[in-house]
Amino acid sequence: MLSSTKLHSFASALIIYALSASATQELTLKLTGTEIADGVDNLKVVASLSNTGDETLQVLNDPRSILSSHPTNSFSISDADGAAPSFNGMKVKYSPSFAARKNYTNAFTTLTPGQSVEVEHDLSNAYNFTQSGASRYNIIPASTFYIYDLQTQEVSKLKAKIQGEHSSKLHGRLAVSRRSFAKRCDDDHDDDEEPTGPAFQKCNHKQRRQIRRAVQVATKYAHNAHDYLTDHTNATDRYETWFGEYNKTRHRTVTKHYANLVEQGYKNYTYDCGTCDDNGTFAYVYTEPDAFGTIYLCGAFWRANATGTDSRGGTLVHESTHFTKLAGTADHVYGQSGAKDLAKEDPDEAITNADTHEYFAENHPALD
Ligand SMILES: [Zn+2]
Repeated sequence: MLSSTKLHSFASALIIYALSASATQELTLKLTGTEIADGVDNLKVVASLSNTGDETLQVLNDPRSILSSHPTNSFSISDADGAAPSFNGMKVKYSPSFAARKNYTNAFTTLTPGQSVEVEHDLSNAYNFTQSGASRYNIIPASTFYIYDLQTQEVSKLKAKIQGEHSSKLHGRLAVSRRSFAKRCDDDHDDDEEPTGPAFQKCNHKQRRQIRRAVQVATKYAHNAHDYLTDHTNATDRYETWFGEYNKTRHRTVTKHYANLVEQGYKNYTYDCGTCDDNGTFAYVYTEPDAFGTIYLCGAFWRANATGTDSRGGTLVHESTHFTKLAGTADHVYGQSGAKDLAKEDPDEAITNADTHEYFAENHPALD
C-alpha cells in the first residue's frame, strides 16, 4: 500500500512528467570517422548533432563546441592506458550571452525536431600525439551546448546525449606543423609610435588606435592585479570571488601569473586584425611555443567597451594568460557567473581559468 507521502510524490512526478512531455529539449551527438589513420593528418572525425527533442533549438555556434571546425579543444582523447595527446590548437575568448544578445546571423545553428548537422574535424590541427605515441584512441566530443531562447532571449546550457563510441587507431606521423607563424615583423611595425610599440598585422588606423588604448588598459590591469595580490596575502572579497577559497599555494600561483604578464608587457605582442571576423568571439591565440606572442582579434573585440567587464583591455589580459610560459590557462568556463561558480566549486581549476584572471584584473564592479 502506498503511504500518503509516496502518493504525493507520485502525483508530483506525474505533473513534472506532463510538463516536460509538452516540450522536451534534447540533443544527441554521434561521432564517426577514420578507423585506422595512417598519419595524424588523416585523423578526421565527423560530429553529427541531432535534435532528438520535440522543440526547435537555436544552438549557439560556440567555437569550443563541435559546431565550429576551429581547432579548439573540442574533444577528449585518450588510449586505454590513459595516454593523451597534447592540445596545441586555438584558445578563444567567447561569450555565449554576447553572441546571443547581438543576434548575429551566424551566432547559432537552428535545428528543428529530427534535424541534424554534421561538422568535420581534422584533429591534426589541434592535437599533437608525439608524447602519447601510436595507439588506439578513444575520441569523445565535448557535449555541452548553449541554447538561445528567442522568446525570453535567455541562454541556457544543454548537455547532449552521446550515442555510441568512436575510436581510431593512429600510426605513422604523430604531429604536423601546418600553421606558419610570422615573427614580429618590422615592416608592419607601427612607425608613427615609439619603436617599442605593439606590432600589427592587417590592422587599419582605427584598429591600431583601439589596440594602443587596449594595451594601456591591459598594462594597468595587470599591474594593478599584481600589486593587489602582493599587498593582500590573505582572504579578501576580491580574491575569493574569482579564485575561490584562499590558500597560500594558490595565491602564490596567481601572483606569479600576473608578475609574468607584467614582465612580458602588452607592447611586446603582435596583434592580428585580419584573420578572424567571428562576431561571437573576442580573440584567440595558439599555445604552441612557435606561436608565442601573436593575439588574433575577432569581431566581438571591436564591439566591446575599452574598459570594464569583457572589455578590450580585459580581453588582452585573458588572451595573454593562455600562453604556456606566462600562465598556461584554459577556458573551463566563460562569463562572470560561470567564473564565480567555478571559484566556489573548484578553486584549483579557477586559478587555471582565463576569464577568471580577466575578471579579477578588470575588478568591475569593484571589490575590495
Ligand atoms: Zn580563452
